[in-house]
This record gives sequence, structure tokens and C-alpha cells, in this order.
Amino acid sequence: MFNYETVVGLEVHMQINTKSKVFCECSTEFGAEPNTNICVICTSQPGTIPILNKKAVEAIVKTGLALNFTINKQCTFARKQYFYPDVPKNYQITQSEPPLCSKGKLKIYIDGKEKIVNLARIHLEEDAGKLVHEIGNRKLDYSLLDLNRASVGLMELVTEPELSSPQEALEFLNELKTIVEYLGTSQCSMEEGKMRCDVNVSVRSAGQKELGTRIEIKNMNSISGVRDAIAYEVERQIEVLNSGGKLIQETRLWEAEEGITKSMRTKEGALDYRYFPEPDLVPFELSDSFIEDLKKDIPELPMMRKQRLIDDYALSDYDAGYLTSKREIADFYEESLGFTKDKKICAKSLSNWLSTELNGKLNADKKEISQSPVSSQSLAKLVNLIIDGKISGKIAKIVFEDMYLKSLDPEIVVKEKGLAQISDEGELAKICQEAINESPKVVEEFKAGKERAIGAIVGLVMKKSKGQANPGLANKIILEKLKN
Ligand code: ADP
Ligand code: MG
Ligand code: ZN
Repeated sequence: MFNYETVVGLEVHMQINTKSKVFCECSTEFGAEPNTNICVICTSQPGTIPILNKKAVEAIVKTGLALNFTINKQCTFARKQYFYPDVPKNYQITQSEPPLCSKGKLKIYIDGKEKIVNLARIHLEEDAGKLVHEIGNRKLDYSLLDLNRASVGLMELVTEPELSSPQEALEFLNELKTIVEYLGTSQCSMEEGKMRCDVNVSVRSAGQKELGTRIEIKNMNSISGVRDAIAYEVERQIEVLNSGGKLIQETRLWEAEEGITKSMRTKEGALDYRYFPEPDLVPFELSDSFIEDLKKDIPELPMMRKQRLIDDYALSDYDAGYLTSKREIADFYEESLGFTKDKKICAKSLSNWLSTELNGKLNADKKEISQSPVSSQSLAKLVNLIIDGKISGKIAKIVFEDMYLKSLDPEIVVKEKGLAQISDEGELAKICQEAINESPKVVEEFKAGKERAIGAIVGLVMKKSKGQANPGLANKIILEKLKN
């Protein structure tokens, strides 16, 4: 038996976030009626000429810059020939050599340890149409063709074969998705097919230099699916090798429900795409200023933003990780922090309110932070009320209900419902005296030296005041009363 190591390389297709397709003016809108977003160009009518969408090139160069790629100024296109019914022109316009971006890097963390994954390339290509084999749950005995997706712009990012476990592939895809979402160059929603992934997996004896025979798993559409498919595939390959068998280079399909991969076809060894320069798109050169302008447009990326939040506000790794998991959440947090009375003092409390209370309610309602009925300013006001001792954490939860359900301002809720904390000594002293009178046993215990017993009296004060007493002050008053 050998000791095997896993080698994984990924080819990730991300739909470029542009309003129109890459070679025509048709909309890229998801979920439109079949064949409504089509024209003579994206349905491949003879004699039509593709016109390059500048925004698509911008998106790829911006993504490349953010991932430390070298940008190739020479922009060229190629025809990749193949027959498939969802590509009526019998070729796909793509980039061969050079791609727009070569040799990038992405940093991930595995069990707290940094790993740099080398990236081979990002190139621009057009998507194919879609064959439809069922309507609702009804399987058809014929196929329908929907060309809405034909010629939608894709960026294909290819990694070097350097990922070495299912978990690493998962972390890599999560980090890539987060960065690209920050950049806004793709929406990366896997449910809508805007991020898809081909997974190449091989194994080799530990220490061996040459790569093992690779198996490609096509068209994965969930990140956890990628992880599970690699885990399954590695085990299968090791079993084949250990039983004296040989692996052949092939394409396999992931059957998510069964949790297994199945052979689809042996690798198109003989298949030659006969790439040649696309005659309808003339090569051109990107100007330095075009690239420089895009560089300036790159926002602070998630890992750096996370570190800054940790450094500036002493947030935990976990908290900062949640807050920077999406750009919209981080923006909401920092905007809200700007409305608090003291960023350093309020940072932790605000982070808690955002990640537990607000996030919990949004999740339950399947809403994004952009649809939050609680504004960033409102949430800051709530935190201010707590930090100022105007309301307790418990009361704050009641106030928050109204903020969320009715979009009300917390200060108004506190005022109208009379929820302000009782910090008036005279008023509080009266309630404390009542509570002491009603707790003779506790008083005895206290006098017998058990100071902690007064917690019960503070509890009673809180109950009597319906949670509005200032617990610190109540504690102090009760202590004084009992000591005298
Ligand atoms: P193709 O274009 O035929 O799919 P590439 O050489 O461009 O082939 O490789 C595609 C992907 O497969 C890359 O992500 C690469 O890292 C990965 N890869 C190549 N060889 C192996 C291997 N032996 N094991 C795992 N991944 C591999
Ligand atoms: Mg491939
Ligand atoms: Zn079109």
C-alpha cells in the first residue's frame, strides 16, 4: 500500500456582471422567458458580426489585477470548433494565447496556515445556449433549445494543479467568490449558474514529482458539491490503484443525490478544436490608462478589510470574518459604526447586534442586508442607547423588535413605550427597599456572610421594574442598604 497525496486543479467559469451580452446588445437577465433575449448575432445568423462589449473586458482585467495577474495588453480572440446543438454556429469565440490575464495568485488559509495558490490564467469567452429536456417535472421525449444564455460573457479562471485536499478546494472557491463579489465583476450565484466549476482530480504516491492521471468532473454547481466530489473521487482512484488497476484520463459526472461520480466519456484525446484567430474580431491593444483606471477602481479586498477591522477595533477573527464575508455587510457595519458615539467602544456591541439579531431576522425572512428594514443609523442609535446606560440589553431586544417590524427609530420606541432605564436613585431606592422587604431569607444569608446572595434581590428589582432598572445602580443601592 502506498501513501497517496491528492492533486486538484480547478477551471472556474463566472458569468461577467454586465447588462448586455458579450458580442451583442441582448440582455443577460436571468430567468426571462425562453428565447426572448436573442438577436441575429447571438443566434448565429450567417453574415452577422460580433461587437465586443468593453465592460466585459474591464471586468476581466479588474478581476485579474485584484488577483495579482499579469495583464496581457494584446487582446485577441480565437474560434474553438465543436458541434453541439446549443451552439448554433458550431464554434465558440474564446481566447487561446494569450489570455487577458496570466500567472496570478490567491491566498487562502488552511487551519490558520497561509497558502498561496498559483493561478494559470483568466480568459474571456462566450457562454452556450441551453438544451431543455423537461418542463416542470414532465420529461420531454424531444429537446428544446433556449438561446437566452448564448453569448453571455464568461470569465474562465484556471488554477495550477496545486490544491491538495477537498477542504482546500472549498476554501479556495469561497475566497474567490468573496473577492469577485467584492469587485462586482460577477454575481457568482451558483444557483443561477453564474459560477460553475470543472474539477480536475488526480492522486500520486507521496513525494512523487510527476502528476497522476487526471479525471475531470464537469459542471459542478455548488461549492460543497465540489468538496464532496473530490473526496469521493480520491477514494475511488486510490482503490483502483491499490487493487492493481490503471486509471484512464476521462470526464466524469457528479451525481449529487447518490454522492458518486460516473464516467461520462474518456478524455477527448483525439478531439482537436482547431483553434484559429477569430477573423471577425480584430486584435487590439489595451492602453496603459485603461488598465491604470481599473486599478484605481479596486476596492479594499476582504482579507485586508478583515485585518483592518481586527487591528482597529480589536474584533475577534470570527466576528471580523463574518462582517467582511460580503461587501454589503462590511459597508453596512462601517457606515453604522460612523453613527455610533465612539467607534472603539461600540464596535463589539454593534458587531454582535449585526451578526446575531439583525442577521438572524434577515435570514429567517430570506432577505439581504440591502433590504434591511433597520437602517445603519438606526442600529447605531440602539447601540448608543445601550452604551449610555439608557436601556439594558434585555430591553434593547424589545426595542429591536419594533425597529425591525415597523422600521421605527429606537429613540422614539424607548420614549413612546416608556422603556428608558430607571437610573433615578430616589425612584430606584424605593423599588430596592420593597424587594429587600420581600426577601427576608436572602437578607439573612447576606448577613451570614454570603454577599453573592443579593443577586436574587437585584433580580427581583429587575422583575418589579419590568427590566427597566439599571442593574449596576440597583446592586449598589441594595449593598448600601444592607450594610447599614
Ligand atoms: P484542459 O484545457 O485540457 O482542460 P489544462 O492543462 O488547461 O487542460 O488543465 C486544466 C486544469 O486541470 C487546470 O486547472 C490544471 O491545474 C488541472 N490539472 C492538470 N493536470 C492535472 C492533474 N494531473 N491532476 C489534477 N489537476 C490537473
Ligand atoms: Mg478542461
Ligand atoms: Zn443577441
